[in-house]
Amino acid sequence: MTPHLRFAPSPTGYLHFGNLRTAVLNYLFARRYGGTFLLRLDDTDQERSTEAFAHQIREDLAWLGFTWDREARQSDRTDRYTAAAEQLKAAGRLYACFETPDELERRRKRQLASGRPPIYDRAALKLTSEERAKLTAEGRAPHWRFRLDNAGPGGGLQPEHTNVAWDDLIRGTQTVDLGSLSDPVLIRADGTFLYTFTSVVDDIDFGITHIIRGEDHVTNTGVQVDLFRALGATPPSFAHHALLTASGDLKMSKRSGDMALMGSRDLEPMAVASYVALIGTSDAIEPLRSMAQLAERLDLSHVSTSAARFDLQELRALNARFLHATPFAEVAERLIAMGVGGGEAFWLAVRGNVTVLADAKEWWDVVGGEISPVVEDVGFLATAAELLPAEPWTDATWGEWTGAVKTATGAKGRALFHPLRLALTARDSGPELKALLPLIGREKVLARLSGQTA
Ligand code: GLU
Repeated sequence: MTPHLRFAPSPTGYLHFGNLRTAVLNYLFARRYGGTFLLRLDDTDQERSTEAFAHQIREDLAWLGFTWDREARQSDRTDRYTAAAEQLKAAGRLYACFETPDELERRRKRQLASGRPPIYDRAALKLTSEERAKLTAEGRAPHWRFRLDNAGPGGGLQPEHTNVAWDDLIRGTQTVDLGSLSDPVLIRADGTFLYTFTSVVDDIDFGITHIIRGEDHVTNTGVQVDLFRALGATPPSFAHHALLTASGDLKMSKRSGDMALMGSRDLEPMAVASYVALIGTSDAIEPLRSMAQLAERLDLSHVSTSAARFDLQELRALNARFLHATPFAEVAERLIAMGVGGGEAFWLAVRGNVTVLADAKEWWDVVGGEISPVVEDVGFLATAAELLPAEPWTDATWGEWTGAVKTATGAKGRALFHPLRLALTARDSGPELKALLPLIGREKVLARLSGQTA
């Protein structure tokens, strides 16, 4: 069976690392098992959904290397929702309610005061057709509730509850007690549809076979399983992952920009994808080089059920590891676009010292630009300058040169190398000088050893 997956963000904010994790898990599952992947924009909230957010979501996913077989927008599918609502009404599973928010609130308080759970009492189910006609004539527009499959004889709530159960691919057997829930509103009084409903209609129409999403949806799933059945469909498989928490005082929400993916475009897409796919699993977090390789790692049974802590520093460290192993060909174009020359030799010399690719530019400026050398011991550097071999230089030049300086001055170890590093790079640490030396070239090296800006 070909699996069909989807990622269904609402274009009401930017993608952040939390919802990105959901996207990546679904995407990898589709890729791993030869399935399809749908990007669905849940834009029924017309007021908060914007085209700009939709555009940014697509951009972010494309940047990460996602491709999708299809895109759908809920705002294009109103006719389907209307038809599905008619089907539920005809089956007696969707009923009109006329209570105002105030009335509902008062009822809820009464229930709580008398120690009863604040569940909607289904009073609207008992309205006669005359009463309904009268309310409509008064100009009251109904909202519509889905009658959960937990009714005892006579339509009242069943004292012994009805559980919906499924075999969650991450959490194992899950049950939701429909008897503890109010019948959910699927259509608001203004005629707009709610996500609980539209999502199920879409998942049926697009043949979705697996839904991987955050554990904040577990109760929803209980309701939606009942909805799938009420619409005559077999529910898909579900997997609910634990949520990511942000470290420090950052917030993992689309309203706070803290964790927006957009803000981390200086990182490598595969480092980001690897991090969000492997965090919160029992597998080691390591940077994989392609979505295909990462997909091979995916095993939902390794995804933990406890919250994982997202740490931007950890992600940056992973990015560094990714770059340390990146061949020149993969970054050549971007280096040129950044104004970095030196070709493969330069990249191999500095890649172990960059956290983000942009750091290569700093090293390029050290090699080819002007620096103000740090001179601690003028005499020592003068001796070193005298001993500097003639060009052409190779990887072996550094060893020959420092060997001669050692013999002449008696300096060794840090006392030998550190003053040379400070003079040649104006930095305390960095890439191996053996590789940098030929890139800097004799003329600049001589100038820097004599303390000139060069
Ligand atoms: N638009 C929903 C959300 O972002 C989709 C949830 C789902 O995967 O069903 O929460």
